Amino acid sequence: MLKGKRALVTGGARGIGEAIATSLARSGADVAILYRSSSARAESLVHDLCDRYHVKAMAYRCDVSSFEEAKEAVKRIKEDFGGVDLLVNNAGITSDSLIAMMSEEAFDSVIGTNLKGAFNLIRHVAPLMIRNKGGAIVNVSSVVGIAGNSGQANYAASKGALIALTKSVAKELGKRNITCNAVAPGFIETDMTKELDSSVLSSQIALGRTGRAEDVAEAVIFLLSSRYITGEVIRVDGGLVI
Ligand code: NAP
Repeated sequence: MLKGKRALVTGGARGIGEAIATSLARSGADVAILYRSSSARAESLVHDLCDRYHVKAMAYRCDVSSFEEAKEAVKRIKEDFGGVDLLVNNAGITSDSLIAMMSEEAFDSVIGTNLKGAFNLIRHVAPLMIRNKGGAIVNVSSVVGIAGNSGQANYAASKGALIALTKSVAKELGKRNITCNAVAPGFIETDMTKELDSSVLSSQIALGRTGRAEDVAEAVIFLLSSRYITGEVIRVDGGLVI
């Protein structure tokens, strides 16, 4: 179903984004990945995907929080791939602090990457999808965007707003045959969570274990493949927030 589709994955060089890019290529989709700093990993991943799955895969440097950089990256991807059918807004950062001590920079940078970054990509990709009469968008939110979290007011606000963005885009672009959904991962083992003690959280997870990047990729592929699900948020948290 995804064979021959042209996918764009932000933050695709490592962690959850790498698992999503790999699953897309395994499904036969051509993949463009955006990275900010992981240039060597991005280049080696795209070579690997081309070799292993015989798809087209290319990497582009782009800070998603910049409207102009996102515009330029989408322009180059259109030239190289001819368009974008599938968009996964996965790039994200944390900058944790208690609210009474949170710096303005910590708030702005997290909102800038996690929320504005998704807006920037949707803003520049939507015209291509509209012209192409269809498309699918998945935004990588977080269970923290649903339930909130102490010490992560900036991150939770960005991920909660990303869900509101998802639902609005779903309503606005549905008649254009474009779906927009979100996944809300719980505790997934990546660089982002490597400093955290997973044993403490595991006891609160119904399935009794932390998640893997592939668990999230599976839900993303499902949503990208669906023709009649839009505006939905799927928790991928093993039952952490029920
Ligand atoms: P990660 O391993 O830290 O990877 C973050 C990715 O985002 C990297 O590929 C990074 O690219 C990219 N990125 C960050 N800022 C960027 C920017 N300004 N422009 C472009 N790319 C940028 O984190 P992860 O765990 O895979 O997280 C992926 C997504 O899942 C994030 O949105 C995160 O909030 C969400 N999430 C993660 C968990 C979890 O438990 N891990 C839970 C819920 C939600 P470079 O390496 O090139 O800088």
